Amino acid sequence: MLSYESCIKYAQEKHFCPHCQTRLSCCETPPFHIGDGLGWGSDVMFVCLNDECPIYSKGWKHIEEQYGHVGSYRYMLLPGEKKGDIMMVGSREAFTGCIIDPEELKKQDIRYQDEQESLKELATCVEKHNLRPVIGLILDECAGLQGRLKSCELLAALNDLAGIDPIRNHFFTNKEVERNANMAINQILEANFKKECPYCTEIIKKQAKLCMHCGKELI
Ligand SMILES: [Zn+2]
Ligand SMILES: [Zn+2]
Repeated sequence: MLSYESCIKYAQEKHFCPHCQTRLSCCETPPFHIGDGLGWGSDVMFVCLNDECPIYSKGWKHIEEQYGHVGSYRYMLLPGEKKGDIMMVGSREAFTGCIIDPEELKKQDIRYQDEQESLKELATCVEKHNLRPVIGLILDECAGLQGRLKSCELLAALNDLAGIDPIRNHFFTNKEVERNANMAINQILEANFKKECPYCTEIIKKQAKLCMHCGKELI
């Protein structure tokens, strides 16, 4: 496994294609070697993904004529090497899905650090009346399931109406978390003698016969 630091380091290296002078993209190496089965010997490689590169644009015709199948070539360079190689690719998309993007990596790292920080804060969030880590984890679809479900429990324990809106405005991809968050919201409403207006979803008194926000009559 590549560490975050080495990913960033590789992704910032600048290498250029000798055939078209385009900067090479830093990509994760595929899990198997297409050629000799020895493996790539590296977790990353630099690849020319320029579709105008002569190696690539002329490659289709060459492979068709030589081997009678569909494919082309891309120029690639392994880290630490001066001279690159050309390798066969089966499609235009080959390698485009595994580009290491330092901006994306940084975002993922920040998200991960936030998650760790929030998990630590869960232990004291009720006594400190701190909604932030609880809401943060419930809304983070990339966070671990256990932490998110724990946060749903703590949300109910925090019993704060301010926690309802952000959850209502979120689209959940994890339905289990959504169910648990909704249960917590119902407990909070119940404990505060409130309900949500079925017309405008604003929070109103449980006994209200008329919504003070949209004016609709509630039966
Ligand atoms: Zn090139
Ligand atoms: Zn209303």
